[in-house]
This record gives sequence, C-alpha cells and structure tokens, in this order.
Amino acid sequence: MSEALYPVPAALAADARITASTAAAMHALAASDPDTFWRQQAQRLDWITPFTKVDESSFNEADFGISWFADGQLNVSANCIDRHLATRGDQPAIIWEGDDPADSRVITYAQLHEEVCRFANVLKSHGVQRGDRVTLYLPMIPEAAFAMLACTRIGAVHSIVFAGFSPDSLASRIRDCDSRIVVTADEGLRGGKRVPLKANVDAALDHCSSVEKVIVVQRTGADVAMVAGRDLFYGPARDAAATDYAPQAMGAEDPLFILYTSGSTGTPKGVLHSTGGYLLWASMTHEHVFDYRPGEVYWCTADIGWVTGHSYVVYGPLANGATTLMFEGVPNYPDHSRFWQVCDKWNVSIFYTAPTALRALMREGDAYVQAASRASLRILGSVGEPINPEAWEWYHRIVGDGRCPIVDTWWQTETGGILIAPLPGATDLKPGSATLPLFGVHPLLVDAEGQELDGATEGNLCIAKSWPGQMRTVYGDHARFFQTYFTTYPGRYFTGDGARRDADGYYWITGRVDDVINVSGHRMGTAEVESALVAHAKVAEAAVVGMPHPIKGQGIYAYVTLNANEEPSDDLRKQLVAWVRNEIGPIATPDIIQFAPGLPKTRSGKIMRRILRKIAEGETGALGDISTLADPSVVEKLIADSQLAS
Ligand code: ATP
Ligand code: MG
Repeated sequence: MSEALYPVPAALAADARITASTAAAMHALAASDPDTFWRQQAQRLDWITPFTKVDESSFNEADFGISWFADGQLNVSANCIDRHLATRGDQPAIIWEGDDPADSRVITYAQLHEEVCRFANVLKSHGVQRGDRVTLYLPMIPEAAFAMLACTRIGAVHSIVFAGFSPDSLASRIRDCDSRIVVTADEGLRGGKRVPLKANVDAALDHCSSVEKVIVVQRTGADVAMVAGRDLFYGPARDAAATDYAPQAMGAEDPLFILYTSGSTGTPKGVLHSTGGYLLWASMTHEHVFDYRPGEVYWCTADIGWVTGHSYVVYGPLANGATTLMFEGVPNYPDHSRFWQVCDKWNVSIFYTAPTALRALMREGDAYVQAASRASLRILGSVGEPINPEAWEWYHRIVGDGRCPIVDTWWQTETGGILIAPLPGATDLKPGSATLPLFGVHPLLVDAEGQELDGATEGNLCIAKSWPGQMRTVYGDHARFFQTYFTTYPGRYFTGDGARRDADGYYWITGRVDDVINVSGHRMGTAEVESALVAHAKVAEAAVVGMPHPIKGQGIYAYVTLNANEEPSDDLRKQLVAWVRNEIGPIATPDIIQFAPGLPKTRSGKIMRRILRKIAEGETGALGDISTLADPSVVEKLIADSQLAS
C-alpha cells in the first residue's frame, strides 16, 4: 500500500481553527480531565437548563447505559436556528441546488426560522406531540430539513427513510417505530427521472395500520391519489400556519431521531440518538474536521436518508451557523461534471462525498473535472468506505489540484458523527488512512479473544469509552443494543470493523471483520486487495471476498469492474492476478477474477460483500435480505457470470 505522507500545508498549519499545538492541548485535557474537557466543549451549545452531570455511561453489563449531560435541557432547532438570528439572520443557511441545474433556492437563517415554525405548527395541528415518531420519506428538498427541524422544535422523534427505498422497506421501518404520521412528497426527481414517492407510501400503508396522517409536499406537482381524511398537501397548510413556534425544552437524553443502518451486513437496526450528546458531537466534529470558518459554503453530498446527511448536511453545519448546500441530484446528471460545476456556481469551500462516487467519476476521465475551475475548494472529505489510495490520490491531485487536504472520516450510524479523521491544520495525511482519533475518542485493537494489542498491529476495532454522540439504544430493543455491540468483547464497544495501526499510531480501516479472508493462516482485509486491484490502470472498482479452498482454507475471489472503454479478456485476467501478486505478495494472489459490469451496493453506495461471498461459495439460493440493494438485477448478472466452474 502507498505510504506517501502529505504534511499539513503551511498556511493551514498557521491559521487553522485547530493547529498542532491546540490539538495537543485538547487531547491532553480530554485524557487527563475528561469531565472538564466535556464541560468546556458543551458550552458550544445553548442550554436552556445548564447540566451538572457529564458522562454517566458504562459499557459493563451490571450498570450498562449511555448517558451524557443528563440533567441539562436544550432544544436542537433553537441551537440550529434561533441563536444565529441576531448575527446571521440574512446569511444563507441552506443553499438548495435542484436536480435540474436551473433550479435553486437560497434560504436565509431568518427564512429557515419561519419555515421550521410553520412546519412545526402544521405537525402540531395534526396531533404530533413531544415523543411521537414521525416518518419522513422525502427527497433532497429544503422541506426535508424544515421537517427534521420542526420535529426537534416540538420534541418529536423523526425517522427518515431514504426516498430510494421500496414500499416494503418503508413499511417495515414505519411499523418498527410505530409512526402515526408520514411526511412525503408527490414525487422525487433524480437525474431527470421521477420517483413515485406518494404512490410508494400508499403501497406501504396497505401494511401499516398505525398511520393516521400523510402530509404531501408538492415537489413536481404530479397528479397523485389522495385518501380523504388521511392525506393532505403541505403547501396550503403551510400558508395557513403561524410563523412562530416556541421551542420545547428537551432533556439532553431525550430521543432526537431514529435512523436505520444501511444494511450492508444484515437486517437494518433502528439506531436511536439523543438530543444533547448527538448535537454536541455533530457540531464539534463539523467544525474541527472540516476546519469550518464563518461565511464559507460547505457541501456534503450525502442524502438526508443516511446518517451523514443528518449530521453533516443538517445538524452539524446549522448548529455552527454555517451555509450548507443541499443537492437534490446525482453526480452524473446532466453530465459527469455536475459536482464540480456546482462547486463553481456556489463557491464551495468544503466538499464532502463518498469513495463510491469518486470511483465512478474517476472512471470517466479527468476532463469532466477540469471543465470547472474548483478554485473555491479548500478542504475535501471522504466517508462511507475505505478510500483506496488510488482514489485518494486522484481526489487530491485532480479534484483538489494538489492544494486541498483530504479528510478521510471513519464513523458509523451508531457513532453519531466522525470518530477517526485528520484535523486539516494538525494532522499529516497518509492516503488510505483515516489517521487519528478525535478528541476524547479511545479506539483500541483487540485479537479474536479480546486481548488488547499494543503498538503497530492489526485487529478488531473497538472503542474503550463512551463519547457524547454515541447511539443510546436500538429502538424498542435495548437488549439487542447491548447484545450487538457490547458482548463480543465485554466492556468495549465493538465496531464490527477491522483496522491496522501503524508505527505512527495511524488507523487504516481494513473492512468489516466478517469480511476478513484467511488464506493459509494469513488474515487479510478486503480493503488491501481491493486497493491493489483498483491501482491497476484498467480497473475502476473491485470487491474481494473469501471462497472455500481445499488447501488454503480460503481462497480469494475478486469481482472487478473495468474502466469505461476497457474490454474483459483472459489475458487481462492473468495480468491482474500477476499485478496483485506483485503489489501485495503471493499470499494475496486472487484465485478467481470475475469481471462484473456492476457490483451489488446498498442505496448508500456501499458494496454488499455478504452477497458476493454467497456467490463465491456457490450458495446462490441463500442470499439473505437484499431489500436495501440499489439495483437487485446486478445480482442475477453476477450469478450468471460466476466463475466457479472455471
Ligand atoms: P449495517 O450496520 O446495517 O451493516 P453499515 O455498517 O453499512 O450497515 P453505516 O453505519 O452507514 O451502515 O456504515 C458504517 C460503516 O461504513 C463502518 O462500520 C465502516 O465499515 C464503513 N466506513 C465508513 N466510513 C469509513 C471510512 N472513512 N473508512 C473506512 N470505512 C468506513
Ligand atoms: Mg454497520
């Protein structure tokens, strides 16, 4: 693997929000006196009732529970809106860029306040109260952010279901949290295509008796069926609603939202986050990791249906009084230059996206990037999967013209926000490494028996102590929460990921522990072999899984997607085998390479290796839950092209 080192750029080293010396002092305080450290950090929020208690969490079975700032009271929407009004009322809070490049809206903090209050009044008039669960099934339109914040103003708990999910997936999530109300749109619009959201809701509600009201935002104006007494349009209700709504004082430990994980490894879990700790974490990490400065335009491309959209499109940036860009469209519409055109159009300083998007764009060549100036860009971020060094270098060199630090941010729905990532003004970068833990985060690596491993090593990634943004429970199933995360290695939070730690203490996420391949006793993360394959000039993307092997125990089965314009051939297959052998060593020699025009991915763009593993094992009859796949038809093609017989 590439071990290039990119030092902190001189200008940033001097004037970043957090420089190396501030970082050292903050780490030291967080370690020596966490109570004082967290009391200080929590002052970045406005509290209605100040807290006296800080961390009362325990990972042990006897007194298990996660709790931060428990006796404090605050309101999330007041922190994200009201407190900015005096100084930033006329500053854009949200810049909305529509699917069609001609479509946009700028919403100031003052307007955001009005819209959120109106939405809260509409929800309230339909019976929504503090503690109620509200399911949001919305496209990336400003009303999605208004609805989220309106829930927090009332103290209702939102559960956002990604608008690409099917009626069945929506229904199971509505049932799981027992929502009485669903907010949706007539249709969504992505890449010029219409998504029938209201029709999906109607289909879902055939299987959900709990829902009494459906509020429909008119995005496209399509003619949709409306059930009398149950369904209403948002527009007229909004116009009639009052423009004020007093924010509820919520306990720091009151639930804020439920969000289901993306389902890469199994059935999605209803992750519940709390009011105080979550908002603190989203806000702190947004400022620290992106070196956010007042007035800058910040763009996270994630959909609000994922946790990244919650923490880094809405809550973190708005808590910090930032201007956050919200994008309705897709990276390849009208063409592959869209991201960079949007950066130029709105003077984006900070840009945050996922490796899957980068690899897809990289595949199309550099000209689309170079068609835009990207002169405003200052910091680039990555999240969702390990970013392979090849994609990292491209992001740095081509997208950022070699000027912009890349923050590779490791975290999970469960963690609420980023846990391991560089601080652009303090951390030297290594392509492919998420680098170092943030303040007050205590990662550790353990072996299969749970023994802590020291120094440069590789193992299972756990977190030793709670942090404020940690999830509080699996909704409705606290036992499952404890069972899933705290019993594999008692007394520790187990992330499910594997990682390597190098001599500088940098973390390299090697992939899911369940995906580790054991070849003749050598344990190998999927990320390493995949990175080697992607480093080949003709390869766009690769996914590697283990397969049964009579001699080695496990062999390596690699699925490879070639760059646009490259043709699969036996000769190329041989070249790739030799290439990986040469890059990593004979132990990593792939046994089988299958060319795959598409890989099975979750809707959030992550490769679902468990499906690929089943195909590699020849167990195509037992693929498990594939309802969160973006394109299930990919699977049939993969099975048809399986190389097992060869
Ligand atoms: P499920 O838990 O239902 O299987 P999921 O784990 O894909 O779904 P998320 O919470 O969206 O759901 O994803 C978190 C996971 O994504 C992490 O555990 C890790 O495997 C991966 N990940 C996220 N960011 C990074 C990163 N920067 N580097 C490496 N891996 C990352
Ligand atoms: Mg997970």
